[in-house]
Amino acid sequence: MLSNKIRPNFSPSLYRCKVPVRATESTLVKTFMEEDNARYSGSATVKRSYMREFLVECPKCSELAVITSDLSYDTSNDKLVCSSCNHIEKADDLVRYNVVVKRVCDNCGKPFESIVPNNKHKVNRLIVPCPNCGVVRTYKPRNDAYRTAYNNSKVGDPIFNLPLWYQTSIKGEAFWAYNREHLNEIRNYVSAKLRERQTTTHTTMVEKLPNFIKSAKNRKAILKAIDKLMKK
Ligand SMILES: [Zn+2]
Ligand SMILES: [Zn+2]
Repeated sequence: MLSNKIRPNFSPSLYRCKVPVRATESTLVKTFMEEDNARYSGSATVKRSYMREFLVECPKCSELAVITSDLSYDTSNDKLVCSSCNHIEKADDLVRYNVVVKRVCDNCGKPFESIVPNNKHKVNRLIVPCPNCGVVRTYKPRNDAYRTAYNNSKVGDPIFNLPLWYQTSIKGEAFWAYNREHLNEIRNYVSAKLRERQTTTHTTMVEKLPNFIKSAKNRKAILKAIDKLMKK
């Protein structure tokens, strides 16, 4: 009685969408591959889309810290936050200025240049004696900004150059990911893509992965390493 009322509402296309009763291994792989392809095509998966967050070692306590970036040229919102030791550092704290005065002395007429390097803040007035005649004047200098970064022998993030949290060595090659989402996408790619080498676009993050990650012979070792990193 009930089934008679419900049955007409089922559209035939719904039936067709059901998984075939006897899916062979190859049809399952094909379905998986097609989903995978859809996932990796498009701008959402270019490498840059993973660069809003970097998990790194905190420079103070070496525990996990998170760097967030809004990906704009203006870095004033980019910062590092460590929830273990509460250390906070702005990307702009790394900016330094070379303060430069390049003039012709009004007393002796000779040109000179004076540079005060590595200032944390801009300098608006600089008192400089002429290197030729010694007359002292106050000048408005030029402030040449540049970025500094941490010294780090491991693979670092692109803002602070602090060691990425997710990194390891696989068969002598450096393997790393910016964050968990990035690591996860690499894992999806390694576990699915290597089964079939069909052509894809060359603009996605995964297409730009180093060859040792794409290589089928490293698949097992890479998945093992990723799973270990995931538990970190
Ligand atoms: Zn810390
Ligand atoms: Zn002079």
